[in-house]
Amino acid sequence: MGHVDHGKTSLLDRIRKANVAAGEAGGITQHIGAYRVDTTKGPIVFLDTPGHEAFTAMRARGAQATDVVVLVVAADDGVMPQTREAVNHARAAGVPIIVAVNKIDKPGARPDQIRQELSGLGLQPEEWGGQTLFVNVSALTGVGVEQLLESIALQTEVMELRAKPDAPAEGVVLEAYLDKGRGVVANVLVQKGTLNQGDLLLAGVGLGRIRAMTDDRGRRMKNAGPSMPVEVLGLPDLPMAGDQFFVVGDQKKAMELVDARKKAAAAKAKTTSAKGLEDLYKMMAAGEVQELNLVIKSDVAGSVEALVKALTELSTAKVKVNVIHTGVGGITENDVMLASASKAIIIGFNVRPAGQAGAVAKSEGVEVRSYSVIYEALDDVKKAMQGLLAPVYKQKELGKAEVRKVFVLPKAGAVAGSYVLEGSVKRGGKARVVRDSVLVWEGAIASLRRIKDDVREVTAGFECGITLDGFNDLHELDIIECYELEQVAAQL
Ligand code: GDP
Repeated sequence: MGHVDHGKTSLLDRIRKANVAAGEAGGITQHIGAYRVDTTKGPIVFLDTPGHEAFTAMRARGAQATDVVVLVVAADDGVMPQTREAVNHARAAGVPIIVAVNKIDKPGARPDQIRQELSGLGLQPEEWGGQTLFVNVSALTGVGVEQLLESIALQTEVMELRAKPDAPAEGVVLEAYLDKGRGVVANVLVQKGTLNQGDLLLAGVGLGRIRAMTDDRGRRMKNAGPSMPVEVLGLPDLPMAGDQFFVVGDQKKAMELVDARKKAAAAKAKTTSAKGLEDLYKMMAAGEVQELNLVIKSDVAGSVEALVKALTELSTAKVKVNVIHTGVGGITENDVMLASASKAIIIGFNVRPAGQAGAVAKSEGVEVRSYSVIYEALDDVKKAMQGLLAPVYKQKELGKAEVRKVFVLPKAGAVAGSYVLEGSVKRGGKARVVRDSVLVWEGAIASLRRIKDDVREVTAGFECGITLDGFNDLHELDIIECYELEQVAAQL
């Protein structure tokens, strides 16, 4: 990832060329969305979709195809808007970043300056006591490329990435298209297990048997193990980039799964539109979310800073406010996809969605809130956070009844012939049994009768028959206290 023209494509090309064996040079290299590169530390697969846009679009579909992000920054330029965006997108995904300081061959290269600037974004170079690996490279001359590959290997060693080759394959669709002669062509990355020709593959909502597989050098493959990118033929339906795939054993089970997925997709299409802040409260409260992710866009840098500061200060012990990305300018499709992938709300201060961003937000179910007064933005977020907190219930006392006589009926069990002393007793209400001022039981009222009829409520001064849900040990002169639980909005 990285800013435009900082050398992502050139670096990928350089890595690929350096790795093609002499005999293969000039031979066909298939474009299949990823390159597999052999290093002394083992193979590394580079996704050939340089840019945080594709990365985040995939993540929004639920796929994390990347273990490490290589951030390319031109040494003669510096941290640019898309550099910052890339950092935020990688960070939101929780993927570690390795920095390739590119164009080191250029006379104006200032690699230390780049380190300085990125430190400001929280990427402290390891050589300065931080956590991030920085490598000076030149895609033009090839300087440092070997070291970059080593750093990637080093980083992944620390992460202990492991996959079982001897299991049914799982992975992610990198891209897919319809070819006139060959039908659906899906370029996939195997993440777990081994994919075999003839396997029954479920990708997106499509199920089909693998007819043929080809690797990134155009070689026919019978099997593809973990981290292999391959081109797959044989799927009947076009999957989407970011769709996860699985190998399934049983056609019937798989069809059930396809049906369930189709239904889920249809349901999602219905529910993702027109999501209000109200829905958000409920959703978040139900999901026991403890974090509120925000993307903040504004017309001027000053108000971005003010908003970030004020909003993050709203964090409490229970809910943490994370500002995952900020920027100056209209709300873009990228912002929306990042929000979608990170379940974030977008706050626009004096800015609106640009181009297709509004439509994409709607289809992705991302909430975009526009404000022109900082206080209003703060107030709404505060409310959203109240939705984040688990609902709080308050007991509302309804009334008291005294047990005057206990009847035991064969079916109903113990019935408390009672007299309502104050307030009222309600069917469906909660009850406490108090004997000599000591609480002996707490539960719910099972039934409530006046004479022979079931009733909803009996008020003070009347007699009634009460049965309690699961409690028969009633005594004369017990007090039955009736109350209700009321949900109140949680206060911060
Ligand atoms: P991308 O937009 O990030 O994919 O950038 P490109 O790979 O297209 O590179 C942008 C420009 O920078 C091209 O003109 C490249 O030739 C040039 N470039 C890329 N890497 C280097 C490098 O290491 N040294 C020099 N001098 N130029 C480079």
